[in-house]
Amino acid sequence: MEFRNFIGGEWRETAAASANINPSDISDVIGYAAESDAAEIDHAVGAAKAAAVSWSASTPQQRFDVLDFIGSELLARKDELGHLLAREEGKTLAEGIAETARAGQIFKFFAGEALRGGGEAMASVRPGVGVEITRSPVGVVGLITPWNFPMAIPAWKTAPALAYGNAVVLKPAELTPGCAHALAEIIARSGLPDGVFNLVLGKGKVTGARLVEHRDTDAISFTGSAETGSEIAATCGRLRKKLQMEMGGKNPMVVLDDADLDLAVEACLNGAFYSTGQRCTASSRLIVAGGIHDRFVASLTGRIAALRVGNALDRATEIGPVVDGRQLDKDLSYLDIAAKEGGQVFGGQTLQRTTNGFFLAPALITETNSGMRINQEEVFGPIASVSRVEDYEAALQVANDTPFGLSAGICTGSLKHATHFKANAEAGMVMVNLPTAGVDYHVPFGGTKGSSFGGREQGAHAKEFYSKIKTSYTFA
Ligand code: ADP
Repeated sequence: MEFRNFIGGEWRETAAASANINPSDISDVIGYAAESDAAEIDHAVGAAKAAAVSWSASTPQQRFDVLDFIGSELLARKDELGHLLAREEGKTLAEGIAETARAGQIFKFFAGEALRGGGEAMASVRPGVGVEITRSPVGVVGLITPWNFPMAIPAWKTAPALAYGNAVVLKPAELTPGCAHALAEIIARSGLPDGVFNLVLGKGKVTGARLVEHRDTDAISFTGSAETGSEIAATCGRLRKKLQMEMGGKNPMVVLDDADLDLAVEACLNGAFYSTGQRCTASSRLIVAGGIHDRFVASLTGRIAALRVGNALDRATEIGPVVDGRQLDKDLSYLDIAAKEGGQVFGGQTLQRTTNGFFLAPALITETNSGMRINQEEVFGPIASVSRVEDYEAALQVANDTPFGLSAGICTGSLKHATHFKANAEAGMVMVNLPTAGVDYHVPFGGTKGSSFGGREQGAHAKEFYSKIKTSYTFA
């Protein structure tokens, strides 16, 4: 299988190609992906610019039809595409299928948004004058996406971009070209005019950087690491380019003494370890009150030990492999750092399975505190730390003691503490008696502090980024 660029309505031949490897079985080569140079980005941006004007004038019905087609096909093929996703990224088959379905639902939601569009009309403060506030497309948007949600993140950027009338150049992560290619292949048959959606595969420092710098990209939406985000923000600031970014998390889950123990353990198991902990909303810091701490740790370690880690395509698997060797090394190095800093590590050993993949036993690090690196730096693996605290007030203080602010959770039976936490947790999303990860597709997604920048993604709020506002005055 060859994964190619899609530019101006054509699939392009590219000479250089890189192998796309299954992290559950490194002997399984899924395909070869184009490794584009900067000229491919120039070509794609040119195609997008040429197509942007007529697409900006497309009717809500045209946009609805295209988005609805894409959504329907993703939903109809969720098993097949979910299999590709699990094979390429390493999350389990069930998670891959659910993510593909979610991508389909996102396209369906934004099909509806294309119809709702809307604006405002109001009287002027001056007699005889009317005021209209309307929205128009931004123009050409560059979308740069990570490997951890290789179907859903391209979907939640592409769908609003098209719904609000923009042309797109998508640059997906190097590790997951297959999902992006499959999405492009559906979009290619959706009735969308040539050039409105373009896909360019390749290295971030070459193609991604070029997309950000290109004078004809009007806006950039990026999801990825904080380091890359800083580079992109510097360039966009210099060029006065509209920018939206979603970066890391170090999401706290507070467990108070009055929590339902089983519910708390379930929420932490899910939030910390599902999708191999490779979610920006993963509960990587478990902040547990003294009265429940020992029972909580005993129960959670029992559940962790029973998790079935293995080949993502095996239906019995609950935790798939880590995405690649580089990420596995990073996970292991943080376990080492945490142990040296005084943490007690449970689990966390590499595992041999019948296929050769990047398997890591989920790890829980107890006896940690906020000053340790494990509680300040994002790891992005099946690893969570436990910090013991005295009471709610101490828990809130520890929960907020991080440069990040994406998602924060609390398990408690106390309405008073839950209400206070919702108001005072420094995070863009707060969960009460629910895992920090796992969000709805029709409401805003995003964080505060070092986690996010710019307008919110998803839900109707996505229009703040994907459209611009005009205020018109008429004297009649
Ligand atoms: P991760 O560590 O999760 O791979 P990155 O931030 O490196 O996170 O990657 C996220 C996305 O950003 C990928 O599509 C990657 O190719 C792209 N990328 C990496 N470096 C740059 C850069 N300098 N400019 C633009 N995009 C980049």
